[in-house]
Amino acid sequence: MSGEDGLSPVTVIGLGPMGRAMAASLLRAGHPVTVWNRTARRADDLVAGGATLAPTPTAAVAAGELTILSLTDYRAMYDILGPVAESPGPSGVLDGKVLVNLSSDTPDASRDAAAWAARHGATFVTGGVMVPAPAVGGPGAYVFYSGPRAVFDVHEPMLGLIGEPRYLGEDPGLAQLFYQAHLDVFLTALSSLLHATALVTAAGVPAADFLPGALNILTAIPAMIGDGWDLARRLEAGEHPGDLSTARMMGATADHIVWTSEKAGIDTRLPKAVKAQYDQAVSAGRGTENWTVLYEILKAGG
Ligand code: NDP
Repeated sequence: MSGEDGLSPVTVIGLGPMGRAMAASLLRAGHPVTVWNRTARRADDLVAGGATLAPTPTAAVAAGELTILSLTDYRAMYDILGPVAESPGPSGVLDGKVLVNLSSDTPDASRDAAAWAARHGATFVTGGVMVPAPAVGGPGAYVFYSGPRAVFDVHEPMLGLIGEPRYLGEDPGLAQLFYQAHLDVFLTALSSLLHATALVTAAGVPAADFLPGALNILTAIPAMIGDGWDLARRLEAGEHPGDLSTARMMGATADHIVWTSEKAGIDTRLPKAVKAQYDQAVSAGRGTENWTVLYEILKAGG
């Protein structure tokens, strides 16, 4: 079955905010879209917009060659597709299908899932969406992918409707690794922003007096480390020249943040974790080197 413009059908399984945004973008482009979700009512708006609600996951997968999964984790995929894979018939329903899983999990979970899919005759592509749901399909949206290049290439135009596809390589774990590494930066930054807000509000300062200015710190980071190319080279070369921002100086500041947080009576776990890294660099005799020496501590497992 193809759309009016000959566009190929696509199935979306998982209709949280992300899956709904993806299905809506595919519908807007004119693709015939079949959807399935554990909680069926989450499909209502999409069905009103022209999507077909499949009665079962088996029917959803059978509707076309490509199925996109947007679920909480890979366990949810097995919960949904496990019974589909075991469905009776001359060949399983997954045979010859392409599964593009855009759910968060670990790189090893993606590798295991690729092997699981292969055992059932399906091809598996891993992806990580790098923008929030409302930005899907819009300017600036991008998605990391890894898995079989030839299969990715065939479906790239359709996947481009979710966000600009950035293909990383054949290893199915690679897109998941990049997703987790980016989210490592993102989640830590978000927690630090809330921790810092709690610090000032505990002192009676309104959050509005602090937060807009604090965002400048985030943009000051690229200004400090440049575009990343030189830092990457220095980290890989193990160069940590102690001319500016030494580990000792930064560690002293980390200590002050812990003390200020304790005095304010707020949670100290995040600043203590940061301080512990600087303490370790200083005890290893590397306090006079650049703060980037923390990389050596982190690589070695702390
Ligand atoms: P939600 O948690 O809102 O939705 C998760 C989906 O998974 C729902 O459809 C839910 O079904 C389904 N699900 C979870 N567990 C099971 C299960 N055991 N069996 C069947 N279905 C299950 O997540 P989002 O839509 O926000 O995100 C989806 C993925 O996209 C996640 O991996 C997330 O990390 C990633 N992502 C999300 C972003 C966002 O802005 N939301 C941004 C970038 C990535 P039901 O509706 O029945 O509960």
